[in-house]
Amino acid sequence: MDLYEHQARELFEEHGILVPKAEVTESPREAREIARRLGGRVVVKAQVKTGGRGKAGGVKLAADPAAAELTARQILGMDIKGHTVGKVMLAQPVDIESEFYVSYVLDRAAGRFLAIASAEGGMDIEEVAANRPEAVARIPVDPSEGVTTAKAAQIAQVAGLPDRTVDVLVRLWDVLTREDAVLVEVNPLVRTSGGQILALDGKVTLDDNARFRQERWGTQEAAHDDALEAAAAAKGLNYVKLDGEVGIIGNGAGLVMSTLDVVAGCGARPANFLDIGGGASAQIMADGLSVILSDSAVKSVFVNVFGGITACDAVADGIVQALESVRLTKPLVVRLDGNSAVEGRAILDGRAHPLVEQATTMDGAARRAAELANAH
Ligand code: GDP
Ligand code: MN
Repeated sequence: MDLYEHQARELFEEHGILVPKAEVTESPREAREIARRLGGRVVVKAQVKTGGRGKAGGVKLAADPAAAELTARQILGMDIKGHTVGKVMLAQPVDIESEFYVSYVLDRAAGRFLAIASAEGGMDIEEVAANRPEAVARIPVDPSEGVTTAKAAQIAQVAGLPDRTVDVLVRLWDVLTREDAVLVEVNPLVRTSGGQILALDGKVTLDDNARFRQERWGTQEAAHDDALEAAAAAKGLNYVKLDGEVGIIGNGAGLVMSTLDVVAGCGARPANFLDIGGGASAQIMADGLSVILSDSAVKSVFVNVFGGITACDAVADGIVQALESVRLTKPLVVRLDGNSAVEGRAILDGRAHPLVEQATTMDGAARRAAELANAH
């Protein structure tokens, strides 16, 4: 489970990492009050569980309480990569001298953690990592040894971070281990003009296996605080929101997982995981389509079905019936294979919906769905 920035900030503070003074609200009116309490000038930040808020217009400086109210009004309800902003955090602005990047992430394959750090943090860290990988240090951390002061000093030295970050690196490791996290990321970690080291933005992903002892963050509610995930959960769908543009529906978790990979391999990004399981009834298809189509980030939809016990003609019937109740607004690429695929394809051909096309292979369908998504 991912935490919101303001929750990550709270954890950092509890572990002695310096953070800007901040408060959270859902109301523009209250934003004005908070800004007044924080000294007038504030940074207004969208609270959504996705990165790149700054570039999307979800992080803005407000000069006084009246401007804070206006800015909060603008940002609340905003759509950032398919996530609707329900809360804003107002923070005391910080005078930034330099921005760094630090994170600890679980490396499952290697059975250890990885410290990733760079002296070139900030909004363009992905670009730095892609274009100049040597500017991003990656240092394995043995979980049984952890990040001691000596280890932290090594990380800071390799990454070119100032000495004063060593203490923060040790405390951040405490956040990871004591709070049952599998990822903690601070970007940017900043040095202020006064020389202080502050965590200005934070991401924490908790280990879902430890959820029973993390009740503090809520169990049910926190799992579905994304509006689309909540809508899907209400319909009993096995849906997870992702950040891409290609909506995905498939039968069987394994097939859906490989569908995500194949779509990514075609140069597009999946917008969601949705496994409709063995049933694939018209109702489930209609429910799934309506959730996916209400995701504003979706540009095309890929239905990938391998007929087994549920035959493809039944799935095709389900799609045709779903098209009666759901208004299709985006192109739909369907790949039917396996049991009764020929019959299933004939049913869809018979319906001849202008936005529905078929492909016979998974790769071909993924390529087409990616092409349609990228054409927008
Ligand atoms: P993200 O875009 O979702 O990663 O959101 P961040 O919280 O990292 O904010 C994006 C950028 O806004 C940061 O990299 C900073 O450059 C800038 N920013 C955020 N808070 C402050 C602040 O208090 N003062 C200044 N000067 N810049 C800030
Ligand atoms: Mn950031």
